[in-house]
Amino acid sequence: SKWVYSFGGGRAEGRSDMKNLLGGKGANLAEMANLGIPVPPGFTIPTEACTFYYQNGNTYPEGLQDQVMVALATVEQIMGAKFGDQTNPLLVSVRSGARASMPGMMDTILNLGLNDVSVEGLAKRSGDARFAYDSYRRFIQMYSDVVLGVDHHHFEEILEEAKDDRNVKLDTELSADDWKKVVAKYKDKVKAAMGRPFPQDVREQLWGAVGAVFGSWMNQRAITYRRLHDIPESWGTAVNVQAMVFGNMGEDCCTGVCFTRDPSTGDNDFYGEFLINAQGEDVVAGIRTPQQLTIHGRELQRSDLPSMEEAMPVVFKELNAIRHKLEAHYKDMQDMEFTVQQGRLWMLQTRTGKRTTKAALKIAVDMAREGLITRKDAIGRIDPAALDQLLHPTLDPKASRTMLARGLPASPGAASGKVVFSAEDAEKWVKERKEKVILVRIETSPEDIGGMHVSEGILTTRGGMTSHAAVVARGMGTPCVAGAGEIRVDYAAKTFKVAGKVIAEGDVITLDGGTGEVFLGAVPTIQPELTGDFATLMEWVDTIRTMKVRTNAETPLDAATARKFGAEGIGLCRTEHMFFAPERILAVREMILASDEKGRRAALAKLLPFQRQDFIDLFTIMQGLPVTIRLLDPPLHEFLPHTDADIAEIAKAANVDVAAVKARNASLHESNPMLGHRGCRLGITYPEIYEMQARAIFEAAVSVSQETGRTVTPEVMIPLVGAKKELDLMKDAVDKIAAEVFAAMGQSVKYHVGTMIELPRAALLAGDIAQTAEFFSFGTNDLTQTTFGMSRDDSGPFLEVYRAKGIYEHDPFAQLDQEGVGELIKIAAERGRATRPGLKLGICGEHGGDPSSVGFCQKVGLDYVSCSPYRVPIARLAAAQAVL
Ligand code: ADP
Ligand code: MG
Ligand code: MG
Repeated sequence: SKWVYSFGGGRAEGRSDMKNLLGGKGANLAEMANLGIPVPPGFTIPTEACTFYYQNGNTYPEGLQDQVMVALATVEQIMGAKFGDQTNPLLVSVRSGARASMPGMMDTILNLGLNDVSVEGLAKRSGDARFAYDSYRRFIQMYSDVVLGVDHHHFEEILEEAKDDRNVKLDTELSADDWKKVVAKYKDKVKAAMGRPFPQDVREQLWGAVGAVFGSWMNQRAITYRRLHDIPESWGTAVNVQAMVFGNMGEDCCTGVCFTRDPSTGDNDFYGEFLINAQGEDVVAGIRTPQQLTIHGRELQRSDLPSMEEAMPVVFKELNAIRHKLEAHYKDMQDMEFTVQQGRLWMLQTRTGKRTTKAALKIAVDMAREGLITRKDAIGRIDPAALDQLLHPTLDPKASRTMLARGLPASPGAASGKVVFSAEDAEKWVKERKEKVILVRIETSPEDIGGMHVSEGILTTRGGMTSHAAVVARGMGTPCVAGAGEIRVDYAAKTFKVAGKVIAEGDVITLDGGTGEVFLGAVPTIQPELTGDFATLMEWVDTIRTMKVRTNAETPLDAATARKFGAEGIGLCRTEHMFFAPERILAVREMILASDEKGRRAALAKLLPFQRQDFIDLFTIMQGLPVTIRLLDPPLHEFLPHTDADIAEIAKAANVDVAAVKARNASLHESNPMLGHRGCRLGITYPEIYEMQARAIFEAAVSVSQETGRTVTPEVMIPLVGAKKELDLMKDAVDKIAAEVFAAMGQSVKYHVGTMIELPRAALLAGDIAQTAEFFSFGTNDLTQTTFGMSRDDSGPFLEVYRAKGIYEHDPFAQLDQEGVGELIKIAAERGRATRPGLKLGICGEHGGDPSSVGFCQKVGLDYVSCSPYRVPIARLAAAQAVL
């Protein structure tokens, strides 16, 4: 079978749609070669070989070695050089490349094929001994680190010493002789560490590197990255072996990374950074401050260094043409790597570029307007969960602030937290001490990924917009300021110095990742504006989705926020949340602790005006949109008094003696309240509670419709029903009150009575229940608890273990369990609609705002989802994507 796919010289065996086999990098290198874009020739060993490798005790499949040697011969031919040759050596890079891009996660080896002899050949042939030995030392360091396991800091120390000896700061200031000495020391170090010399046989080097790329699939950084991004281990990585091109051959050479559009704003500007006389990794590692690609970019960043557009105008033009070609071909923003060797441009990578959510919206909307993609494509390209980033606060422009420093605006959003100086500390402070932290580093590396993930924000003092910290932070949606050069970090003292101040570990700072500013202390934030590209995309979203999106809200503030976010009604108003206000809780307690109906009615009469006003507010804000009100649901004990003073106060208000209240309080104790006296069981035992609530609803509905002239159609929802008879009784009570109110006020409004489906029994008997219920709302929080027999509040610790052991893949309280709970929803929907065609169905659990759960709701035919106000836009987008 075929174990090698060649590319280069204007043609390739692979294509961009072969990512599963060739990995993203290999597939796109092949595609570029087919498009006639200059790509150094090479070949890809497919992911299947990696899978084979792990399934067969780390061995290669038969035929692989021979096929590699044949493909290598083709590369030699195209390049006119020979692998391992003494006078004209071919050098290659060995690059990993998984299906999904895993930036910086896997190890790449450059300049492979150099040894003590071929380095001399390279020096002579290129006429540049400095370049040859610079390449050799890079190779020894990378190969020793990645393949031989000799830690890179040994080599960095030797390099620092060499620079100190020569009294220079930059790598580029070292001469050929300096590098020769460094190389000798590097080799000594390898020999000391390994007990044998650095491998001189180029074939041994090649297979060592291939094995190391396969091996890197299982390194800790890769495993962590896969876990954070849901990438299955079974995919494996491909290996790309590619002829080297050199950006480190002098002043007419460079290496860089660029984006077809600005990845942080989404503007249609060519954006990128490059370094003259450097090799690939240098830009990302933040070794020197990179130069901007365009004049425009240089002006924005107020950089004195010339842009590529100015310094290398001819190559820049060529690169810009490739930018347009690739974007038109892939129909999406591309992230590219390139190297210029002696004035000649080579493309080394292209992939769909990571971007901020703001940029994603702008790019999608712009591309749809440009006609490059359809509106549906645009909708499909936005990750609903990522919208969260935009809906969140930015710094209040009016708030006073003390600026500490300015860096690059590497990832937008505002964040405050306590300063920590290592990824480890970040994890500790967050997990153990429940602190919010800002991770401050000179620069970050892939080992820091865990700590970066838990931090509110990330601040680095070195590196550009494409540094590791910047790329990773944008991917995570974490605010980041990068390259704040005035800040001096002292890791040992756990402090940093800037602007004459010393900031210690634990001090609070604020980052504005949108401007690159760093402030002392916590700066207040404000809510974002939801206009522009966001509004445009949401308009498109609303034209194609079929499910409605409502909100769970009971306060006027939440209801108004949700309206602003596009909510089309209230799907769940939890009336009990309205009972905790200080002026009400006393009456609520009085009601609960009353020993008879008369006492309860007296207390309820005090609550009625409050409830009525609540509903007047909600009906007014919702302007005729549907409002579903759930009657009292939680176990009564949630309202019980805790102190003797509370009890005394209640006794006084109810005009009964303290001992009686105490006794009643004790008698209400339940050992399993979530399965106890709650939901409609309260309405069954104390109908007067639900009667008061129904009265408040209907009086409010009639008065708002009289005042505004708008139709108000309340939906009265009975919780925790398990039998039709429960609902029958409660509906009768509600209907009776409605009739009374309408007669007394001389006007009636339309209303519906329905139920939550949150017990498995209700789901199974939905056909019966639908004879009475005019709508169902799936209360998936309780339905998940009752289906799993697992309390949401107590399941955290063991669910972690369950997920680690692969019993449940996701937290069922965050992401709807489609197999189990979903099956009950399907059954209830079918049986309910069989009885009552057109029965209105919705969901009001947490899951209503979870994109994958929203997709499921569409599949089973729900009419609407209801979620918390901030998730409304997310649900709208997810609902649209569900019909794409
Ligand atoms: P990553 O997946 O971490 O980006 P890459 O395989 O893309 O790793 O390589 C790391 C760096 O080395 C990149 O900057 C890339 O452009 C550069 N590079 C890789 N192969 C070559 C090559 N054949 N010639 C010159 N530079 C290369
Ligand atoms: Mg790369
Ligand atoms: Mg419930």
